[in-house]
Amino acid sequence: MQPRIEPDSTTGTIDIEQIRQDFPALHQQVRGKPLTYLDNAATSQKPKQVIEALSRYYSYQNSNIHRGVYYLSEQATAAYEAARVKAQRFLNAANPAEVVFVRGTTEAINLVASSYGRLVLQPGDEVVISAMEHHSNIVPWQLLCESVGANLRVAPIDTSGTLIISEYEKLLGPRVKIVALVHVSNSLGTINDVKHLVGLAKEQSAVVLIDGAQAAPHMPIDVQDIGCDFYTVSGHKMYGPTGIGVLYGRIELLETMPPYQGGGEMIRSVTFEKTTYAPPPAKFEAGTPHIAGAIGMGVAIEYLEQLGWDFVREQERVLLEYALERLATVPGLQVIGSAESRASVISFTVDGIHAHDIGTIVDQEGVAIRTGHHCTQPIMDFFGVPATARASFAFYNTVEEVDTLTKALMEAREVFG
Ligand code: PLP
Repeated sequence: MQPRIEPDSTTGTIDIEQIRQDFPALHQQVRGKPLTYLDNAATSQKPKQVIEALSRYYSYQNSNIHRGVYYLSEQATAAYEAARVKAQRFLNAANPAEVVFVRGTTEAINLVASSYGRLVLQPGDEVVISAMEHHSNIVPWQLLCESVGANLRVAPIDTSGTLIISEYEKLLGPRVKIVALVHVSNSLGTINDVKHLVGLAKEQSAVVLIDGAQAAPHMPIDVQDIGCDFYTVSGHKMYGPTGIGVLYGRIELLETMPPYQGGGEMIRSVTFEKTTYAPPPAKFEAGTPHIAGAIGMGVAIEYLEQLGWDFVREQERVLLEYALERLATVPGLQVIGSAESRASVISFTVDGIHAHDIGTIVDQEGVAIRTGHHCTQPIMDFFGVPATARASFAFYNTVEEVDTLTKALMEAREVFG
């Protein structure tokens, strides 16, 4: 099955309307209006190719993997393992065994905190995160630090939503065993220079995890170039199914780490006296995995590869610039976060209107945006706001949709005077 995107044969450009045809969810009316889906940072819509892959798997290939000697099980196993190789290629990991299928970024970080964290952390040791982390890159480390008597340190950001690198550097000392940083902030859109930040942490021999949940849908990822030890991805944010994601881990670390969960699939041999474990990645994939999810994520990866990063990045850059320009015309609207390097995510407040009211009013126009703290309460505290509204764009969004959002916000302004 081939993705259907092909550049126009005469102009060589990709037709956005042709791409939108691949996404059934984009062609529906909600509240009597055409859907304008601008909540891509929460989850992206899925192309037909991914939906059809799930349907095909459940219709014709459904069987459990790795254990069966019969035809269907061999087919399903091959498709699952082929998806692992696609994810390896997507992240430029050195080895498919470095790709562990998990439920998503949240599970990936919990896996590392529980397994690697408990292995290495001693009382008095330190874990460094930043002030722009998603709760899923805060809470697992808090739980870990509390349980072993270690300390969580937080590198601050400035009012543009940029990490203050000199302060980050000051935190990096010999007690720091783990550094966990977000690649792209889901509330501010800030893109961190993770290669540089990893390099600084490596000077102190810290192990580094990068939360790539918001980066993987928007830019090419090269874990070897970044130099990180762990990298996390959520399939549903990059046009794949929910309930599937990847933990990349450097093989030397995965080999030394104890299992995260026990059960079938992750063992070499079991007796009542002693169990020995399978090598990675199986050691970390206890039980029946999300087989269809992994296959669907593999198709989403191929879809992105077929589109090409040049197209994705350019389309999203145009949308971001246009949206910033248009939103600036809405009276009382303030954008939260203005880092120099940023992804197509815009958080904002409007004077005199609570974020939830903004979301509810624009919903009447068919516009789906997120409102709330976006699982980043410390960022809200830092900016002194209870919540923001957030519009986040994917390559399939259009400038007309930005206009629809702007118009809906103008209407909200009128309602609230
Ligand atoms: N990290 C970031 C930056 C996110 O934006 C999200 C989800 O919004 C997560 C982690 C958690 O991802 P998931 O819910 O897919 O586990």
